[in-house]
Amino acid sequence: MAFLIGPMQHHIEGHKEITEANEIIKIGTDEVAISLSIGAHIATPTVQVGDRVKIGDLIGKRDDRFYVPIFSSVSGEVVAIEKRMSASLKPSDHVIIKKDDTDEFKDFEKLSLDASKEEIIAYMKTIGLLGQGGAGFPSYIKYATDKCETLIINAVECEPYITADVRNIEEHLDEFKYGVMLMLKASNASKCFVAMKSFHKETIEKLIKLFEDEEKIVVKPVKDVYPMGWERTLTYEVLKKRYDKLPIEAGAIVSNATSAITLGSTALSGRYCYERIVTVSGDNINNPHNVICRIGTPISKLIEACGGVKEDRAIIIMGGPMMGTCVTKDIVTITPISNAVNIFKEQHFKEYACLRCGRCVEHCPSSLMPVSIIEAYKFNDIAELEKLHVSDCVECGMCTFICPSKIEVTESIRRAKKLLAARKR
Ligand code: SF4
Ligand code: SF4
Repeated sequence: MAFLIGPMQHHIEGHKEITEANEIIKIGTDEVAISLSIGAHIATPTVQVGDRVKIGDLIGKRDDRFYVPIFSSVSGEVVAIEKRMSASLKPSDHVIIKKDDTDEFKDFEKLSLDASKEEIIAYMKTIGLLGQGGAGFPSYIKYATDKCETLIINAVECEPYITADVRNIEEHLDEFKYGVMLMLKASNASKCFVAMKSFHKETIEKLIKLFEDEEKIVVKPVKDVYPMGWERTLTYEVLKKRYDKLPIEAGAIVSNATSAITLGSTALSGRYCYERIVTVSGDNINNPHNVICRIGTPISKLIEACGGVKEDRAIIIMGGPMMGTCVTKDIVTITPISNAVNIFKEQHFKEYACLRCGRCVEHCPSSLMPVSIIEAYKFNDIAELEKLHVSDCVECGMCTFICPSKIEVTESIRRAKKLLAARKR
């Protein structure tokens, strides 16, 4: 086992106050473009141009190693299936649907709390439940184990600026509780921790009240350090256990809070969760807010609803500033795993030579040696990259953030990771 955990003690200014108390803006759209890419995987369309669909109708599916369905978020007509830039920065098929005004649903079954572990896992598969914290991993695969002792619900939201998960919990307390209870049953765990940063005092109080009759469920306030929301860090914080590849090696399943809400809401209503709450924030947006919109809404509409950008030369990031993806076009659309759109002013930093100060090593949560990795990458030294465990980098962005010489350390590590992965293929 190569993995150690670094200090994880760095507090990063959260800037959460910009959006956390603002009302949620609900926006409409005439047309959605639903991406058929799920993380690194591409689904195939199951509809054709001219088809009429309802909300919750199957429009695409991934059917390789894992089955993952993709559903329509509107009722209307499929007007095109075309390649567009997706949030993963790859052009992928999008199903373009012109929305009508009927909002007709194709209903799922509801699911009661009496359902068995197997029934809940089958339900997760039917509704296409994904890890909505950014990973997009199919939940039914994660829960198909008999080794889970502890369920951890991750409501930490450690990236700066993002408040979508906490606002979603505040707005959907009943659905959250129902989803957590279904997840607990599906996991077969004897204990469940709902982890949230300790400064969310009011929400934590509400959660303690919400779960007061559930002996197995404990609300766990955690420190405001980055990257506390990373599965490995959180598992260590809660259980004081380390693992090599997956939390289940430490007897844990970690699920995102919004995934719990999606499961609870679908199970209670029998309806597909066709909307999602997205934080629109950053230093270059006029009126930062959380926005609720249909899956497939272009981010240009979210930016417009928040008053547009302050300066035209803008950097748009899908996700948070530390781990998000920089997108060049505002036609990229919202997917079930999009939690934020952050817009920043373009800044140019002069990069200086490495001071060998060791701060990047000291703050790396994966205990890597970024400078040595960059050297090995420059010399194409694959054996050394492997020895330095470059694939353990979680691309948390801390090494760039902390570097006094303004070196884009994470970007170089990312390239080194890709090089090693390509050579291993
Ligand atoms: S991005 Fe940098 S700090 Fe974060 S895990 Fe990778 S090497 Fe470590
Ligand atoms: S933090 Fe920056 S300057 Fe310091 S050792 Fe790392 S790369 Fe070099």
